[in-house]
Amino acid sequence: MTDALPARRLLLVHAHPDDEVTGTGATMAHYAASGAHVTLVTCTLGEEGEIHVPALAQLEAAQADQLGGYRIVELERACAALGVTDHRFLGGAGRYRDSGMMGLPTNDNPRAFWQADLDEAAALLLEVIREVRPQVMITYDPNGFYGHPDHIQAHRVAMRAAELAGDEGPQKIYWTAMPISVLRDGMEAFRELSDNPFADVERVEDLPFGHPDDEIAARMDGTDHYQQKVAAMRAHATQIPDNSWLYGIAGDFGGEFMGVEYFTLAKGTRGPGEGPHNWESDLFSGLGLEEPATASVPAPAQPSAAEATAR
Ligand SMILES: [Zn+2]
Repeated sequence: MTDALPARRLLLVHAHPDDEVTGTGATMAHYAASGAHVTLVTCTLGEEGEIHVPALAQLEAAQADQLGGYRIVELERACAALGVTDHRFLGGAGRYRDSGMMGLPTNDNPRAFWQADLDEAAALLLEVIREVRPQVMITYDPNGFYGHPDHIQAHRVAMRAAELAGDEGPQKIYWTAMPISVLRDGMEAFRELSDNPFADVERVEDLPFGHPDDEIAARMDGTDHYQQKVAAMRAHATQIPDNSWLYGIAGDFGGEFMGVEYFTLAKGTRGPGEGPHNWESDLFSGLGLEEPATASVPAPAQPSAAEATAR
């Protein structure tokens, strides 16, 4: 099966539609454009999200409960913007429900991803791993980057599936991360913004995320793709309001903040790196899989909604 796929294969395991963009969108666009096979597995439909489009407000869980279905289309458009064609929902669309924020009654819904049987969910991901045989996998750290139950569960499921896959599993596993130095610079830069996302934060150490720079393994420079990342964010319109500070960053700092993404290495051996901390600039570094000489492949046509949901 993998004979027909490109030599470099990257798997991303995310919790909700839109998580793929904010943490890894530039990396996904970079690898898709460089001819790698990029597979995105999203674990829930994000049914419990807030809705920032007034005309769609009644789709929310407490009313029509139609947000999840709507977000399938948003995700499809985001993937098209990133040039990613292989996107799936864990166990099929609707298999697991968004658990909502930690401590809410939605955590206890029997269909919530937080309630998923770990081995059952991991077996569903294992099917994807055996089909695609990714050398590199990206997911979250054990705290799900910031503590959301579905992000924590996505971490557990991804790590369990990789363990079950054994030698067929990814050779390198990365967790999304943010270096303390970048956070600190960001907090300084944002002080001037009227819509400062860090307005209430006194010290960078008080944030629930942030890794010492020497714990970071890879710095992915996707600044060439930051416009695609912004377009993919726009595709998630119900979740990211037009006046979001994220767009403020995109406008004020361009590729610098939007296009560069960082990772810690949870499994595998670090390849050659650069700079004071020897950060890798390629997640496939050290695997003996050279970047194809053909630097860019055209983004494939967007699949129809029926095709996307039939997977
Ligand atoms: Zn999420």
